[in-house]
Amino acid sequence: MEILKSQRLNNLRYDIRGPVYEKSLELESQGYKIINLNIGNPAPFGFDAPDEIVHDIILNIRNAQGYADSRGLFAARKAVMHYTQTLNLPGITINDIFIGNGVSELILLSMQALINEGDEVLVPAPDYPLWTTSVALSGGKPVHYVCDEAAGWNPDLADLERKITKKTRALVVINPNNPTGAVYDKAVLEGIAQIAERHSLIVFTDEIYDKILYDGAQHHPMARFVHDTLCITMGGLSKNYRAAGFRGGWLILSGARAKAKSYIEGLTLMASLRLCANVPTQYAIQTALGGYQSIQDLVHPSGRLYKQIMLAHERLTAMPGITCTKPKGALYVFPKIDLSQFRFKDDNEFVYDLLAEQKVLVVAGQGFNYPQPDHFRVVCLPTVDELNVALDRIEAFLVSRHIG
Ligand code: PLP
Repeated sequence: MEILKSQRLNNLRYDIRGPVYEKSLELESQGYKIINLNIGNPAPFGFDAPDEIVHDIILNIRNAQGYADSRGLFAARKAVMHYTQTLNLPGITINDIFIGNGVSELILLSMQALINEGDEVLVPAPDYPLWTTSVALSGGKPVHYVCDEAAGWNPDLADLERKITKKTRALVVINPNNPTGAVYDKAVLEGIAQIAERHSLIVFTDEIYDKILYDGAQHHPMARFVHDTLCITMGGLSKNYRAAGFRGGWLILSGARAKAKSYIEGLTLMASLRLCANVPTQYAIQTALGGYQSIQDLVHPSGRLYKQIMLAHERLTAMPGITCTKPKGALYVFPKIDLSQFRFKDDNEFVYDLLAEQKVLVVAGQGFNYPQPDHFRVVCLPTVDELNVALDRIEAFLVSRHIG
């Protein structure tokens, strides 16, 4: 008899490493060189983690042989606590902080600790797809609210509020946003906080790109606006500190913790069931947060990351049938294809054919739960020279399929 996967996995996807990625591995095994613009993984593109972080892990490796407290090492949690003070988030104590194996693990833990069968969670569309899958994996129902491209990809508050039902438990905010590159306006964040408080919804806010900001964009931590309901902020080492492989992240509880005693108990149980986050990396968190913030050099107009993002935006915007909202943060551009101008039917066909013909791998907008099949995401981590080669190929593909 065939061994079937859990029914909870039916219809779940993670296209960033999904079927089209498998196809690219197959092409590589046949000897083709693929330009991979699918994963936001800085190190392989020459974005090294700060030396002081690497040194700290090496120096402390002998001290890191045993399990740590499930919530995390004292020094790491204190460093995150101190970080909240620099962000003007008062009243957060070490007990409000959990360390995890990346934000990914904390997203899964925090959903599993919350959701009962059939509970609904409002997730942005487009989203970083782990948020949708983690709700579904926990037995909940992800309900997508729209982010409006015409409004710089800010969340549509009317749509968000319209989708609240008796079963809604929480809402998710991703700011700065993956895949759109949006950094949300203060008024929009205040509006989301008011809606959450009015309907007693927990606010999950994924701020893993909070230091990757361009052209003076201002990031407002959601926790500043949420007081009468629970707010859960996530951050980590993977992007701001280019240390994705070290798997280090944190979760910060703020707002109405007194109303959430049982949930926090659940979260603590979930953390203890996985014993602890990997310990060597925890030693680096204090150094990362308290050290030289070299990400600022990379996002400055003279910095490598800035130049790459702007190049991708400028060149894609100039291509036939493509429009692209300028990113204010994160590592990506999320252009729109005017499908009426091309001989392919949707974003998925575009992505497969681009890979087959030009050996460039990007991710279709539908992989981010975007309902319209007409966007794709480009990771802007390769050097300007490599990115130009990839963009030349995308352009050649678009021109070859352009009608008229
Ligand atoms: N959240 C967002 C918005 C992301 O883009 C990513 C990774 O791309 C993650 C979370 C996962 O981060 P981590 O490496 O900390 O698990």
